[in-house]
Amino acid sequence: MSDPKIELLNDGFFRLDGGAMFGIVPKPLWSKLCPPDDLNRIPLRAGALLIGTPDATVLVDAGFGTKLTERQKEIYAFQNSELEKELAERNIAPEAVTHVVLTHLHIDHAGGCTRIADDERPVPVFPNAEYLVQAQEWEAACSRHPLTRGSYAPEDFMPLKERGQLTLLDGDRDIGHGIALIRTGGHSPGHQIVVVEAERRTAVFFGDLVPTSHHLRLPYVMAYDAFPLDVVLKKDAWIQKALTESWQVFLQHDPEVVSGTLHRDGKTVVLVPEKNR
Ligand SMILES: [Zn+2]
Repeated sequence: MSDPKIELLNDGFFRLDGGAMFGIVPKPLWSKLCPPDDLNRIPLRAGALLIGTPDATVLVDAGFGTKLTERQKEIYAFQNSELEKELAERNIAPEAVTHVVLTHLHIDHAGGCTRIADDERPVPVFPNAEYLVQAQEWEAACSRHPLTRGSYAPEDFMPLKERGQLTLLDGDRDIGHGIALIRTGGHSPGHQIVVVEAERRTAVFFGDLVPTSHHLRLPYVMAYDAFPLDVVLKKDAWIQKALTESWQVFLQHDPEVVSGTLHRDGKTVVLVPEKNR
């Protein structure tokens, strides 16, 4: 069996508050790594992973998509969604996508799951895909908790259920083609990461467990993390695994680095980039 083709697609760039992205880390430290703009925001990428095998086309996360209001675009400094264009450039029609794995259901990951149809109702962007979400994440997204409700938009995911395209997972799941979904929690109740085992080497997509290369430092967790202590422990375990086994690491929110391998540099672990874009 030939190895899957794995590539990071870019739905676009956006900005979030630098303090929120680095949690307890003081600004004099993080601002050296990521200089903020005059609204204290730092640049980020809304990335999605494309995994192509001979008989499956798998997308992991779908970016912000096309439903943001002008006001939201201004807040996030997000321009236009590029995901469908990125797929078209690779000759992939939305109809050809077989699986959409959601690391979690926050709007910068699940927004691109649906679009507004001619009758002004949200419908799935990928009409033939099975959308895979952890059941705990689904419950969290539907619970409208006062702290997290602003991170979820029901129109991103309710249409998936209505159209019968939703599969809820209860823990880790092997979806074939060497692709394993692993529930980590931490960032959100049902956050999952994706490990792709191939003959040549294993790849990992960390989702929001490690959003940028700066978050490889263990205490660099986000104020958005629902369970920061869990993030640190899970991050430590998976970073160690990726380091010792020389996995290819994909980071979805890093505005510069797309992928690389981990190396030890004294006490810290750093990413040696393979591709910048
Ligand atoms: Zn995110």
